[in-house]
Amino acid sequence: MLHEIQPRVYHPEYINKKAGLSDYALCYRVNAILFIKDKKSKTLRIPSYRELKKDFPDTYNDMYKSSIYLCAVDKEEFFILNKEEFPFDYEDEEKCYSFEESISFRTFSPSYMAFVGVTGNHVYKWLKSRVYCGCCGTKNKLSERERAMVCPKCKNTEYPKISPAIIVAVRDKDKLLLVKPLNSTYKFYALVAGFIEIGETAEDAVRRECMEEVGIKIKNILPYKSQPWGFSGSLMLGFTADLDGSSELKLQEEEIGEAVWFERSEVPVPPGDISVGQEMIRSFKEGII
Ligand SMILES: [Zn+2]
Repeated sequence: MLHEIQPRVYHPEYINKKAGLSDYALCYRVNAILFIKDKKSKTLRIPSYRELKKDFPDTYNDMYKSSIYLCAVDKEEFFILNKEEFPFDYEDEEKCYSFEESISFRTFSPSYMAFVGVTGNHVYKWLKSRVYCGCCGTKNKLSERERAMVCPKCKNTEYPKISPAIIVAVRDKDKLLLVKPLNSTYKFYALVAGFIEIGETAEDAVRRECMEEVGIKIKNILPYKSQPWGFSGSLMLGFTADLDGSSELKLQEEEIGEAVWFERSEVPVPPGDISVGQEMIRSFKEGII
């Protein structure tokens, strides 16, 4: 899965510091991120501050000042370059700077940097949505001691927003339930999933989503694994469950385009292995769950 970067170790603890030359710069614009593109191989990589200093000597000082610490992987440190006015119009025979959709992290190599890039996008979107205090409208400031935005007037403190969601592999003996949600950029069969409502347990969300999306009752709800999923700013909580009663499916028309009980041997395993949903589908096909 995307966050499984062993033997490397992810360090999420916040440190109040600015970027050094060997650190990496994550510069986002809405759903895109700045890469250096190799012109011959077409491969993408995340720029270091050393490269930014060499290629943009006139604006580097402002880039450095706007760096916000994100995380470390082993001893490599990553910063968000939190300014949007830099043009990044550099090009030579070997490389150019290019903003690419953050969805490119689904296939990016090395994979630990894909995980960091998606996590940084989650933090960047939160920073953008917390420029002003939600209570009194004063401009927020970054906390000096933790990853938070603080209002200097009313002291309201905002921490990164993480939205918990459930995803569930529902079995009917040797069959697995798969759905195709409408209005999704993901075009493959997937598991039933949805955000947890206010005041709801994860298990109740699993029951509710199964009833809402496909009209079935379930039992034997057991936790599988959890996964940070920065693409949607969520923490995915994976579960397995068994059908309880009728297997007849009643689709929620505005959300689900298709729902099918697949025999184990017929289960269409989606390409990739970055999400807990993909892993559960593969595990069912292999007889592990
Ligand atoms: Zn305030």
